[in-house]
Amino acid sequence: MKSLADIAAALQGYDPQALTVSQVGDFLAQLTQPLSAHEAQDLPLFDALGRVLAHDVISPIHVPPHNNSAMDGFAFDGSQLTPTQALHLRVVGTALAGKAWQGRVQAGECLKIMTGAILPEGLDTVAPQELCQVHTESDATITVPAGVFQRGDNRRLQGEDLRQGHAALHAGAHLTPAALGLVASLGTPKVRVHRRLRVAYFSTGDEILSLGEAPREGAVYDSNRFTVFGLLTRMGCEVVDLGVVRDDPLLLEAAFSEAAAQADAIITSGGVSVGEADFTKAMMKKLGDVAFWKIAMRPGRPMAVGRLGNSVLFGLPGNPVAVMVTFLAFVRPALLRMMGSTAPMPPLLRAKSLEALRKKPGRTEYQRGTVSTAADGSLHVRTTGNQGSGVLSSMVQGNGLIVLHHAQGNVAVGDEVDVMVFEGVV
Ligand code: AMP
Ligand code: MG
Repeated sequence: MKSLADIAAALQGYDPQALTVSQVGDFLAQLTQPLSAHEAQDLPLFDALGRVLAHDVISPIHVPPHNNSAMDGFAFDGSQLTPTQALHLRVVGTALAGKAWQGRVQAGECLKIMTGAILPEGLDTVAPQELCQVHTESDATITVPAGVFQRGDNRRLQGEDLRQGHAALHAGAHLTPAALGLVASLGTPKVRVHRRLRVAYFSTGDEILSLGEAPREGAVYDSNRFTVFGLLTRMGCEVVDLGVVRDDPLLLEAAFSEAAAQADAIITSGGVSVGEADFTKAMMKKLGDVAFWKIAMRPGRPMAVGRLGNSVLFGLPGNPVAVMVTFLAFVRPALLRMMGSTAPMPPLLRAKSLEALRKKPGRTEYQRGTVSTAADGSLHVRTTGNQGSGVLSSMVQGNGLIVLHHAQGNVAVGDEVDVMVFEGVV
């Protein structure tokens, strides 16, 4: 495991007093490691939603297992098709899904076939029922119109979805609803997944009230524990809630120790900004290997990062929006990596700004915005208004963060900007 000093030494232009957002990302990628596959567990599919695969899932079968029909219609040997001549065929039987049809189909003959039914040897083309002329007087002949079909139409090939012996999913994949269905289609009842990541969190600050406490002058109710709880839970983490910890060295030491003893990662909020007259930073320094940063970003300038025992520590700022933004920008990608995920970050959207935005080059800004689709189908975005780092309602109103990059300057009305959509995450 690399020490913080090692990581810092290898990072181009590392200055803890003026880090860029991308340097923070690079640093955290070095600081965090995926869970070991040794701790993986086998889970039945219904229990595995949202987990990360610890091993490749190899398909024991071809999916689909046989060539089969993609339509209800008539199956025949497509070599008989010509561009100009309709094809007259005698119907010699019916093939239903789930039952192999026994018999042979000769030239000039076809088989009535249902969707999913096995295509017998020699038949490679299916003409959907509604596109054929069925001669009802006999019900035994059909006409396939000329020039409509090509050989191989409406046929699903054996193994076209998944090949036997090949990886259907790779280690690091998330078990999404689609992935669960895919594994089930192999006839595989269990998957080997990483254990859930355990993340402990607490809020700090003497002015922070827990729910149920009486309001008092100068005090605010703790919201950070709830946003952090929600963000972690949606990621599939196991959460350890250590409450609000007062600015008291003994209480802080107990909380940090308890967190480090049981969690893979620790998230705190508050107490890391410059001039904080509290014990949070001192305790982090005493108990672990911790760096204190000023990041060229808004909101969320101060942050502490490091290791406490075997846990990775993320000391987030106190302001509620800054907590969520630093979580999305840094903590979430780092935790996903620790969970063993290899999924790339979802791409940013490009949307036209409906407002002029003031922005100084030299820092990254995350403004809360609402993306919508205009009448012409293009994406528009407008900010949610007051961008104060304590205005949590902006995170509720918006559906994404407008990312104004480090070197970017002012944005004029109609300029395109990048947006990190956070629906389903926040
Ligand atoms: P700090 O980073 O400790 O200087 O806190 C910055 C601001 O965030 C202050 O106005 C705090 O009152 C506020 N704050 C800190 N922690 C929380 C919390 N858990 N919930 C709501 N607001 C908080
Ligand atoms: Mg404070």
